[in-house]
Amino acid sequence: MRTAFFGGSFDPPHLGHIAVARAAQQALQLDQVLFAPVGLQPLKPAGSTAPFADRVAMTELAIANQPQFEICSIDAPDPANLAPNYTADTLIRLRATLPAATQIFLLLGADSFRTLPRWHRSTEIPYLANLIVAARPNEDLSNLAAHLPHGVSLTQLATPGARQHVRYLLRNPAGAQSYLYLLPNLNFEISATQLRRQIQGHPTRQAPLLAPPVLNYIREHSLYQ
Ligand code: ATP
Repeated sequence: MRTAFFGGSFDPPHLGHIAVARAAQQALQLDQVLFAPVGLQPLKPAGSTAPFADRVAMTELAIANQPQFEICSIDAPDPANLAPNYTADTLIRLRATLPAATQIFLLLGADSFRTLPRWHRSTEIPYLANLIVAARPNEDLSNLAAHLPHGVSLTQLATPGARQHVRYLLRNPAGAQSYLYLLPNLNFEISATQLRRQIQGHPTRQAPLLAPPVLNYIREHSLYQ
């Protein structure tokens, strides 16, 4: 099994998320993409706008009838511990729930990838999962190495026949190895922040960048007003 973990606020989940997941699934022949809404994103201390339960419900609607996409509640908030969800811990817990032969990938948009050196235990993350980095408009990825955690080296590998991705070998001084797959040709000009503003300004206007059931959910629950 080849399983990608796709974490995020999904506040709300939009067609950019779906397009990125589909592109990764096709480029890397993933069996499964796990969409995991996060309780508290460490680098977004103000939290999300919509409650966790609504973000889960909207994400379920956004991925409905797409058999390779699944909801994953591993990053649900823990009422006994209101600490942020750290991806390194999540990947370790995810590994424990999956069969040993499963290959785990961490799917990230370019903006998230560029913050990787600031993540908790960031030097471990590339060795807990192979990385898939999706290009995003206005996010410069011309110097990938600059966004890698300290001590991680990067070597581009030949990928004959692969037009959708570029493969890199990652190595640390202890000799651990992993791969980073760059999806360079993605150009989805959609962000949740921009969508929330649109919905707030024009709650009744059709938002074409959301799946219709997600838009209906937002209206029925008066989210982002
Ligand atoms: P916001 O504008 O509120 O930050 P977002 O959609 O970027 O919203 P998340 O829901 O946390 O934020 O995104 C989850 C993951 O999807 C992140 O890794 C993000 O980089 C990636 N992502 C979201 N939208 C795009 C896009 N249009 N192109 C590429 N990656 C994206």
